[in-house]
Amino acid sequence: MRAMILNKPRQLLQLRDVPKPRPAKRQLLVRIATCAVCRTDLHVVDGELPDPKLPLIPGHQIVGHIEEIGDMVNSKFKVGDRIGIPWLGWTDGECAYCRSNRENLCDQARFTGYTIDGGYAEFTVADAQFCFHLPDRYNDVDVAPLLCAGLIGYRSYRKAGDARRLGIYGFGNAAHLIAQVALYEGRDLFVFTRPGDTATQKAAKKLGAVWAGGSAEMPPEKLDAAIIFASVGALVPAALHALAKGGTVVCGGIHMTDIPSFPYGDLWGERVITSVANLTRRDGEEFFEIAPRVPVLTKTETFPLEQANTALDRFRVGQLKGTAVLTIDTTVR
Ligand SMILES: [Zn+2]
Ligand SMILES: [Zn+2]
Repeated sequence: MRAMILNKPRQLLQLRDVPKPRPAKRQLLVRIATCAVCRTDLHVVDGELPDPKLPLIPGHQIVGHIEEIGDMVNSKFKVGDRIGIPWLGWTDGECAYCRSNRENLCDQARFTGYTIDGGYAEFTVADAQFCFHLPDRYNDVDVAPLLCAGLIGYRSYRKAGDARRLGIYGFGNAAHLIAQVALYEGRDLFVFTRPGDTATQKAAKKLGAVWAGGSAEMPPEKLDAAIIFASVGALVPAALHALAKGGTVVCGGIHMTDIPSFPYGDLWGERVITSVANLTRRDGEEFFEIAPRVPVLTKTETFPLEQANTALDRFRVGQLKGTAVLTIDTTVR
């Protein structure tokens, strides 16, 4: 099968012909239709995350059809079903985290497109327990960005609690998806972009934000919660400073630059800084239930598999008009 392979961080992916994987116990063999590109893919390719599997097939927002079912797979899956494969690829199911509904924190967890092979390829295998059926309302391209930007964005959003005034710092893919859920649930949305990025501010207002401005600005009202999707540590004290008492700053990214120091007075008043790590299967089930009701709409830009490097390059320099989605098997929709 054809696959885009990362041999070493900070090198271009290489198009290779590699053996098609075989499903082991509890695994599905999946013919990949599409795979959306996530910022985490950039962090992996650029060597900002430690110890990836090498050589590696990146990609963890995979949409495909079941081609073959391994032994001991739950009967909810049958050959031909369309499924999604997310970032959380496997957990041990028995550590203290797994046994307390926090499988996202499992010490032994394996991650798709990072510590196990992912979706920049024609086929992959995945543990059936971590795969999702996808809502029929979406086609294979439009649903792909929901699998990470949507799921991890949703977990960040839930972690922000029932904040009425919700700030979002960094209005990229995850923010754009989760803003739609927040508006659907009646939150007042305050969007912070790079200073001077009036185009994005305009887009945020058009979507329904009550206010949009630069990240150095203070919103017209104090916020009950703020989610930071940009990987810029300096946004943490900025967001904290914009919070009302009892408010929460949620850091939604897997990687962030160092956080500068800030006065204790900004944290005082029971303000909280927290992060979101990975996802649980429950996040996925909840999100795929609510997404088609909103409905959460995605903006995408498609690339053939062999142009994965171009997609990553354009993402890196901020030249994409939507989430990059690799289209791999175009015979099915
Ligand atoms: Zn565990
Ligand atoms: Zn991701």
